[in-house]
Amino acid sequence: MRVYNFSSGPATLPLSVLEKAKDEMLDANGTGQSVMEMSHRSGDFKPIIEKTEGSLRELMEIPSNYKVLFLQGGASLQFSMVPLNLAAVEIGVPKKKASFIETGIWAQKAAEEAGKYVEVIIRASSKDRSFSYIPQGAEADTADAYCHITLNNTIVGTRWPYLPKTGSVPLVADISSCILSEPLDVSKFGVLYAGAQKNLGPAGTTVVIIREDLIGHAPSWTPNLLRYDIHAAEGSLFNTPPCYGIYIIGLVLDWLKEQGGLKVITALNQEKTELLYSYLDNSKHFFPLVEKSSRSLMNICFISREKDPEIRKTIENRFVKEAASVGLVNLAGHKLVGGLRASIYNAMPIEGVKALIAFMEKFEKSL
Ligand code: PMP
Repeated sequence: MRVYNFSSGPATLPLSVLEKAKDEMLDANGTGQSVMEMSHRSGDFKPIIEKTEGSLRELMEIPSNYKVLFLQGGASLQFSMVPLNLAAVEIGVPKKKASFIETGIWAQKAAEEAGKYVEVIIRASSKDRSFSYIPQGAEADTADAYCHITLNNTIVGTRWPYLPKTGSVPLVADISSCILSEPLDVSKFGVLYAGAQKNLGPAGTTVVIIREDLIGHAPSWTPNLLRYDIHAAEGSLFNTPPCYGIYIIGLVLDWLKEQGGLKVITALNQEKTELLYSYLDNSKHFFPLVEKSSRSLMNICFISREKDPEIRKTIENRFVKEAASVGLVNLAGHKLVGGLRASIYNAMPIEGVKALIAFMEKFEKSL
């Protein structure tokens, strides 16, 4: 039996994509091989990577002055690659400044790693209230090399309802948990990056979308594998790319187009989110953690209203266990924050959200 998988990532994928991959496992496109067995430099793989890039460009309306890279190392490696390529300096030269907006644990990790190469300035933070909102009026300083935000905060379930004012300072966004969940004006950003394992495909591929003028500024000591200019010049084939992941992303993007593209998927995401939030807002027992204006479309975090922390934990553990026993899996919150979390990425059908709500209603009555 297939379950409804509410994992924050690796996450549920469309069933039709998995079936297509299964059908093509032994013989992809009449080549007599699986995509896993293809040389990345072969004529068999070239159309696969080209098709994936083309579909991503089409769905995200990526302007022609942006490069699309398929890399490895997860979103976490971008915490290093972004500062290395956009702001790091030759040895002995004083560090440049870069601004960071602190909206959650991933945003903090990005800032911490960047601190090895740049002077990190936290321009705004929502740490004072456990990251349950996006700070208003965030701005970069004109002298900053770039400004980094985490557009959707997977662990706490917030999403930026606006973009910070950065003027000519390049805006860099981690879009790991919201890529292709709703339209995004790529031209407003210098760099966008996302680990694939939520809305795009399996873990192992990282998508980087970068404005061409930001490529080629890494200092001479930067390891080759961490240089955007080398990856861009080689069309993501400087070394062996995550071939199978790129192929699955291509199938997921085909599926997105079949659904009607981004407009249709956005409307569906809004419908799913509204269903779940309106249930939570009216629930006697469960409590949504995030301010209304900052709510994520993808990760919905909530807790039991029980005041006693020990009893609350017991109730939440029971919830996760009983939900799993009826095929609703991975509803525990991130280990650092606890509570409960339903990640409802593009591939989560609305039936999954309805099944979760029906379960919650029943669970509340049992308390
Ligand atoms: N940024 C965000 C917003 C994330 O949600 C995650 C992972 N959940 C990461 C970065 C880290 O991604 P990875 O494990 O691919 O390095």
